[in-house]
Amino acid sequence: MEIMIREWTMADTAAVLRIPTAADDKYSRGVVALRTGSAAYPGAAVLGVEAAWRTGAGYVRYLGGAPDAVLARRPETVVGDEIGRTRVGAWVIGSGTDAAHRSEHEQTALRRVLSGRTPVVVDAGALDLAQEAVAPLVLTPHGGELDRLCEQLGIARPQEAASGSPEHRAAASIEVARMLHAVVLCKGARTLIASPDGRTIAVTDAPAWLATAGTGDVLAGILGTLLAAAPGRPHEEVAAAAAWLHGFAAAIASGARDGAVGHPIVAMDVAEALPAAIAELI
Ligand code: AMP
Ligand code: MG
Repeated sequence: MEIMIREWTMADTAAVLRIPTAADDKYSRGVVALRTGSAAYPGAAVLGVEAAWRTGAGYVRYLGGAPDAVLARRPETVVGDEIGRTRVGAWVIGSGTDAAHRSEHEQTALRRVLSGRTPVVVDAGALDLAQEAVAPLVLTPHGGELDRLCEQLGIARPQEAASGSPEHRAAASIEVARMLHAVVLCKGARTLIASPDGRTIAVTDAPAWLATAGTGDVLAGILGTLLAAAPGRPHEEVAAAAAWLHGFAAAIASGARDGAVGHPIVAMDVAEALPAAIAELI
């Protein structure tokens, strides 16, 4: 089967971003709730929350296992397990968590999120739960996590997904998207976004400096905010915009622009470059 792949552009990304107006308040600008991070990986929580704020969320709630670390970095964040009456526009779950060490309490909480109607970004340690979901999902596996999903779903030749040709990776992403009725954003030097109907988008041009620990957690936070801020937009387009913005922020942070080689960055640099990246887009 030949796969048609749309190449995502800067202009496509700009069209997804939403500029606040006088009619907006913090809720209408987008409420994001994250259930990410753990005692072993508190940094993932901090990075996702920082990215959510820096993408322009009006309100960020944090309900994961590392509230102290989150508050130390970002006191604006509302923490606590009670979700109250604040309407959540999008969830982010799984970054910096390990399915093998999930508590009963956590399992129950994640199942509740996945059984709702609010869109959920499912990353890392929560990917194994995607199969049970009712909520609209955007999965964000890297190649290895895509392989594991293929294995879980009984999709043939999982090894080919991560290490094989781009065509195999695209085919595997589409197959997972179909089986789970979810958008699948498979991360890599060329990030692929597959929809259940077989439409596929590619996001390229991110500098290789982006291949560093924690940048995936930043992407999940960006995506959560864009989903909350742009309800009704096709999720594959929002996912592609998040990946493009992530790569552009990395290019700004690393100085890898206009042919320059650039320099190393850490994941927090990408989150901190988001406002400058957005300013160039709108
Ligand atoms: P994760 O594996 O969850 O930490 O996410 C890693 C992030 O780095 C993803 O956004 C990938 O798209 C990105 N990435 C990985 N390798 C490369 C590369 N060679 N060039 C550009 N971006 C990359
Ligand atoms: Mg990751």
